[in-house]
Amino acid sequence: MHRQIMTRVPVCAITPDSVSGEIIGWVHEIRDLGGLAFLLVRDRTGIIQVTIPKKKVGEEIIATLREVSRESVVHVQGEVKAVNKAPGGREIIPKVLLIVSQAQVPLPLDVSEKVPAELDTRLDNRFLDARRPRVTAVFQVRSEVQHAVRNFLHDDGFYEITTSKIVAAATEGGTELFPIAYFEKEAFLNQSPQLYKQMMMAAGFEKVYEIGPIFRAEEHNTTKHLNEATSIDVEVSFTDHTGVMDILENMIRHVYREVSTHCSDALACLEMDSFVVPSDSFPRIPYRDAIEIAGKKMDEPIAFGDDIGTAAEKVLGEEMGTHYFITDWPTAIKPYYAMPYEDEPEICKAFDLMHPRMELSSGAERVHDHDLLVRQIAEKGLNPDNFEFYLKPFRYGMPPHAGWGLGSDRLVATMLSLPNVREAVLFPRDRHRVVP
Ligand code: ATP
Ligand code: MG
Repeated sequence: MHRQIMTRVPVCAITPDSVSGEIIGWVHEIRDLGGLAFLLVRDRTGIIQVTIPKKKVGEEIIATLREVSRESVVHVQGEVKAVNKAPGGREIIPKVLLIVSQAQVPLPLDVSEKVPAELDTRLDNRFLDARRPRVTAVFQVRSEVQHAVRNFLHDDGFYEITTSKIVAAATEGGTELFPIAYFEKEAFLNQSPQLYKQMMMAAGFEKVYEIGPIFRAEEHNTTKHLNEATSIDVEVSFTDHTGVMDILENMIRHVYREVSTHCSDALACLEMDSFVVPSDSFPRIPYRDAIEIAGKKMDEPIAFGDDIGTAAEKVLGEEMGTHYFITDWPTAIKPYYAMPYEDEPEICKAFDLMHPRMELSSGAERVHDHDLLVRQIAEKGLNPDNFEFYLKPFRYGMPPHAGWGLGSDRLVATMLSLPNVREAVLFPRDRHRVVP
């Protein structure tokens, strides 16, 4: 049954001018009109019509046609003809049609998208769901986003680092940690590479980034929270919060530009006609102004020191209509490692980057003074003794530094207007989902 594939080409490479073609792909649709049958065969590059005039092809092909089911993998070799009505303006008349891998019937999910499926069913059958061109397109864009981030940072002199996800202490304290069984020791999955990337500033690496998983044992069930997310984390020495805001803003613009240049087919598939690369610089609004704007809009004042919740984020997003920063947060509601202003220590040099729909990133100039850091850890009700591994580098020459963490999943979800961040993740983890 099996036959060596000699000259397999991607479906999109077969043009109306091709004379012959050999493809291998999934049966997207089967249409049998009696004397004539059509198979639409799909690979990640597109769809091609295989036209079978039953009287003109061999008996073997007719037998295969009778047997083959949708979503089976088939191998087709034949003559290519230009036809106006077929997808891509061409068709293949097969000389060879073989089933490489037969798909069971019924399918758990309709790949041709004629029958809509719930997100849960889709995620349960992600391998099938991801065969849908629209889903493939999302992950093509996601790949481009991470590639563009790497290129941008690498070209700017950053070292890519990889830090451990198994840790003994919480980054920011709190209960949002997943405990794990680690021999005789207490250990957790890391909620952020924050402390490690700062330690690499003490190592003199100057500019580092990491793209990796962060784990949050939060019980929320929203369209923007996951229990395992992918964070793009950056830390830079000899700069302040404004320096790393510039990097973040330039990087986001670069990423949008790269997606716009390299993913036009994916964007068309996702009907993103309105895909715009942000051009102007992102407005920077101090927290005090942000709570005033949001408070007025919501007709409900937000007190200094309160967090900016989802409802306030929404009205601010509507007001801004673009990416924007919220700067100069109250020191009390930002982590201990955020640097307070010298002349106004109740606010600190921390910022959030917001998309009109949600927060994308949090960052700050960091405290690099050991004693101030110890005081701030204690003020948060944490025990500085538990942070000795982190504090030690601050006693042996720590440069001033700043950085941020950007949610890769949220970046993709907002860029592509996906209603749920889970759509931007292959195998999302939430309170109810650990499989597949
Ligand atoms: P939020 O307030 O929206 O819950 P956060 O302030 O707790 O987010 P940070 O600790 O500031 O999140 O993490 C930095 C970035 O990492 C966030 O801006 C977001 O893009 C991403 N991120 C953090 N937690 C999650 C999560 N649970 N799911 C998806 N992305 C997340
Ligand atoms: Mg945050």
